[in-house]
Amino acid sequence: MLDATRSWMREANLIGGDWVGADSGDTIDVTNKATGEVIGTVPAAGTAETERAIAAAAAAFPAFRDMPLMERCGLLWKLHDALMDNQKALAELLTVEMGKPLAEAMGEIAIGAQYVRWFAEEARRAKGEIVPAGVNGRRILVTKHAVGVVGMITPWNFPSSMLARKIAPALAVGCTVVAKPATATPYSGIAWGALCEEVGYPKGVVNVVTGSAREIAGALMADPRVRKITFTGSTEVGKELIRQSADTVKKVSMELGGNAPFLVFDDADLDAAVDGAMVSKFRNSGQTCVCANRIYVQAGIHDAFVAKLKAAVEALKVGDGREDGVTQGPMIDADAVEKVEAFVADAKAKGAEVVTGGGRHAKGGTFFEPTVVTGATQAMDFATEEIFGPLAPVFRFETEAEAIEMANATVYGLACYAYTKDLGRAFRLNEGLAYGMIGINSGLITTVEAPFGGVKESGLGKEGGSQGLEDYLETKYVCVDGI
Ligand code: NAP
Repeated sequence: MLDATRSWMREANLIGGDWVGADSGDTIDVTNKATGEVIGTVPAAGTAETERAIAAAAAAFPAFRDMPLMERCGLLWKLHDALMDNQKALAELLTVEMGKPLAEAMGEIAIGAQYVRWFAEEARRAKGEIVPAGVNGRRILVTKHAVGVVGMITPWNFPSSMLARKIAPALAVGCTVVAKPATATPYSGIAWGALCEEVGYPKGVVNVVTGSAREIAGALMADPRVRKITFTGSTEVGKELIRQSADTVKKVSMELGGNAPFLVFDDADLDAAVDGAMVSKFRNSGQTCVCANRIYVQAGIHDAFVAKLKAAVEALKVGDGREDGVTQGPMIDADAVEKVEAFVADAKAKGAEVVTGGGRHAKGGTFFEPTVVTGATQAMDFATEEIFGPLAPVFRFETEAEAIEMANATVYGLACYAYTKDLGRAFRLNEGLAYGMIGINSGLITTVEAPFGGVKESGLGKEGGSQGLEDYLETKYVCVDGI
């Protein structure tokens, strides 16, 4: 068992088994998002450091790929235990650098550990096929192989679990890793390097580099030894990485932005719908890719839903995520606050009514009041853009067909939700809604057993489920003849 009381705040990068600073010696400050205070620094690494990390990962790959499967799975089990043994310390660090309430951070570490365990199990089922040949004497074998060195770029909103969904399947099948965590929340990413080292991964298998996104990503994208890029972040950056991947024809997985519709029909269980909307909208202060972005409520239940939603929102407690009872932490930075303010101003100018909240919180800093607006329309900016903050716009609709049409009127297709007791409608929604994930009577759907991922401009590939392992494997076909 590892020391569960110690700090995981490492102010260095892990490259080829060594803990190092940037070549220039430059560093980047990391802040406590609730107080603004600087808590430490990380290396401001760039191209040269990333190239060394890629070289280390490429050198480590053949031996790691050939490590017996049960040894690789055994390392993942140890990694799972190390995460859970250190859950509290890792969660506290996450809360400080990201801002989310400690209970949510504890949950994030736990689901990260669950991904590790899931992929340790799935690796044993990375099966190929023997396919009937069209002619006698031939045998057709389809086999699965680790893709090689994987570059991973992750966002700040789930700084630990977004890496879990990439590192776990990669290590499970024998890939080696160069990870670049978000600059706002680097320690949770660096902690993965430290944990992997401590449980016994060979040098060079896991490398973590912090610093300039453009330089680190540029080096990863340009290098032909990096065979796969897995990115979670904005659609804008994802598109740029897809373009850059063309030069070396890399495999890509893209978990990008969302604009989730949340549909509430007249026949819904009202209390369940409000609970679902609360967890979907206000988890992580509205800063998740699967957050309800647009809440569409059928006319017959609209006013009752708004009244209950308002009461639930007013019961939220805003504050430092380490304080007891806090359910809403700060937003990640000043830009994020300004963006939500602009959405509120645009909606008001176009006729929406603020039912509760609506502005910066009295606590100052980047705290924002949990907000509900009604009278939302498709002409308002949040109808087509991702809010990424604690603002719940409520739209009114009359018919199922109208709700589906409005829900699909976006370039995004990540998650959506619907509350109804009508089974036939639930199936029609599944067929009609152009989204990668659908929660029927559930506002919290992420789970390790299921493939997480979007359609349209929300991404390519899946994380979790058996599909999440497939994304780290190449398929080979062998034709055996003449024997
Ligand atoms: P972001 O700005 O796209 O950043 C994500 C990562 O990309 C960070 O590590 C960032 O580095 C890096 N990056 C920034 N500019 C880059 C560039 N030009 N080239 C290469 N890398 C670059 O996104 P974010 O603001 O951190 O995260 C919020 C977005 O992520 C939202 O749109 C959200 O919906 C999406 N998201 C999607 C999922 C999903 O599973 N689909 C999950 C979570 C979040 P720096 O930190 O150094 O800038």
